[in-house]
Amino acid sequence: MTERKVRVRFAPSPTGPLHIGGVRTALYNYLFARQHGGDLIFRIEDTDSGRFVPGAEEYILESFKWLGIKFDEGVSFGGDKGPYRQSERRDIYREHVKQLIDNGTAYLAFDTPEELDAKRKDVENFQYDASTRLAMRNSLSMSEEEVNSLLESGAQYVVRFKVEPGEEIHVGDLIRGDVMINSSILDDKVLYKSADDLPTYHLANIVDDHLMEVTHVIRGEEWLPSAPLHVLLYRAFGWSDTQPQFAHLPLLLKPVGNGKLSKRDGDKLGFPVFPLEWHDPKSGEVSSGYREKGYLPEAVINFLALLGWNPGEGHDEIMSLEEMVKLFDLTKCSKNGAKFDYVKAAWFNHQYLIRQKDEDWVPAFDKLLKEQGIEATAKQETEVVRMMKLKVVEYTDGEGGKKKRNISFVSDLWPLTEFFFRAPKEFDREDKFVRKNWTETTAGEMTRFAEVLSTVEDFTVEGIKQVVDPWVEEQGLKPWNAWRVCLVGKGQGPDMYELAAFLGKEETLSRMYYAIKTL
Ligand code: GLU
Repeated sequence: MTERKVRVRFAPSPTGPLHIGGVRTALYNYLFARQHGGDLIFRIEDTDSGRFVPGAEEYILESFKWLGIKFDEGVSFGGDKGPYRQSERRDIYREHVKQLIDNGTAYLAFDTPEELDAKRKDVENFQYDASTRLAMRNSLSMSEEEVNSLLESGAQYVVRFKVEPGEEIHVGDLIRGDVMINSSILDDKVLYKSADDLPTYHLANIVDDHLMEVTHVIRGEEWLPSAPLHVLLYRAFGWSDTQPQFAHLPLLLKPVGNGKLSKRDGDKLGFPVFPLEWHDPKSGEVSSGYREKGYLPEAVINFLALLGWNPGEGHDEIMSLEEMVKLFDLTKCSKNGAKFDYVKAAWFNHQYLIRQKDEDWVPAFDKLLKEQGIEATAKQETEVVRMMKLKVVEYTDGEGGKKKRNISFVSDLWPLTEFFFRAPKEFDREDKFVRKNWTETTAGEMTRFAEVLSTVEDFTVEGIKQVVDPWVEEQGLKPWNAWRVCLVGKGQGPDMYELAAFLGKEETLSRMYYAIKTL
C-alpha cells in the first residue's frame, strides 16, 4: 500500500457553542496534521436538522480564528473535496445508501414510530437486530410486491444497516490499542431517513471520511462506541483498505468529583467551558467565554494541549504552538480522563501575560480603562504599561525580598494601576505603610516639599530630579514614602519621579495638598 498523505478533520455538529473539549479535539487534530505535513479539514455535520442552532457554525469559526487554529480545507476555507457541509451532500449520501441496499448490507424498514414504541413496551430491552428483524416490517420480512406498493403509496421508511451477529469486531485505536466487541450487541442502526431525505451521523461520517480521503479519525472518547459500526460500514462499502486509523481521546473530567466536565461545573466554580461568550438564540442565556474572561488564546491552547498529553520529562510546560507541533505524540495520549484543572488555566494565563511585550499589553489595558470609564491617551497607556510591567512580574516587598505579583488576567491590573488615573480619596490609617510613613511632622514636611515642587518648570523625571535632589540633600529629608502616600494612597506604584512626571505638576500638587488636609 502506498503511503497516503495525512488528512484529518474536525467535524462538529452546529448544535450550540463549541465545548472546550471540542477545542482540544481540534487542537490535537491540528498538531497531528502540522507534524505530518498533512491537511486539516473543517466539516460541518448538520444532518440532524432538529438540533440545528443558528449562529453555531459562525461561532465555531470565530473561536478557531481567535485561538489561531488554522484549517487547510473545508467550510469557509475551500478545497476540491466539497461541499463540506453535510446538508449540501444529499445526492452523495442517497447514492451511497443505494449501494448498500444493492449489495445486501442494508435494508428498508417501514415500522412507524408508534409501532416501534409499542414493541419497546412489549419486549424488555428490545433491540432491532438479527433476532428481531424478521418480526418487523421491513424489506427482509416482506415480499418485494409489498415493499414496492408501500414505496408507491409514498410510505415513509428508514434504511437500516444489517449487522451480522456473533462476529468479533476489532477497532485498532492508536491510543487504546485493540478494542474488541462482539457484533451481537449492536443493533441495526438507521443510516438514512426518507422523511427528511437525510442520512444519519454514522453514514454521512463514514462516506465523507472516505471521499475526503481522511487517514486518521481523532475524536473524543464519547465516539468510541460508534467505532465498531464504522468498521463494519467501511467493510460493507469495500473500503477496508483505506479505513482511517482511529484515535479516541480521553474524556475531560470535572475539576472535583467524578464524571464528565459539564457546563454546570463551570457555572458552579466560576470558569468558562466555551472559548467565546455565547448568547443562546432561543433562551437568551449568556454563557461566559475564555476570550471575554481575559484569557490569552496562546494560554488556552497551551493549557488544553496538556489535558491528555504531555511532552515528557525534561520539557517545560510552557510551549508555543510550533514546539507542540514538534513534540506532540498522538500515541502517547492518556487513555484515562483528564481532570479539568481551571486553577491551572489561570496559572497558564499568568505565565503568558508576564511574557508579553509592552505593546501587547496596551490594547487589553485600553479595554480595561474604557470599562472603568477612564479616558486615556495612547501615550499615557503606553507609559503606564512601561512603568507597571516590571512590577507585574516582580516587585520588591518592604523587607527587600523579591515577590511575584499574582496577575492572572489583565483585569487584575486595575487595582495596581487605578492611582495613575484617579487620585486617592480616602487614606487607610490602619494601613501599615501609611501609619509608618505619616507622622506628626509629615504634613509640615510635605507642605514645604510641595512648595519646592511648585518651582519646577520642566516637570519631567529629569527636571524634577534637578530641583528636588539638591533640596532633599540639603534638608536631610527622605520624603519618598510620604510622597507616595500622597500620590498613591498606599505603598504601591513605580518610581516617584516617574509617577509625578506622569501625573503632571498640577495633579501632583493637588494630590499632595489633599493628603495634607485629610491626613
Ligand atoms: N459530528 C460529530 C461531533 O459533533 C463528529 C464525531 C467524529 O469526529 O466522528 O463531534
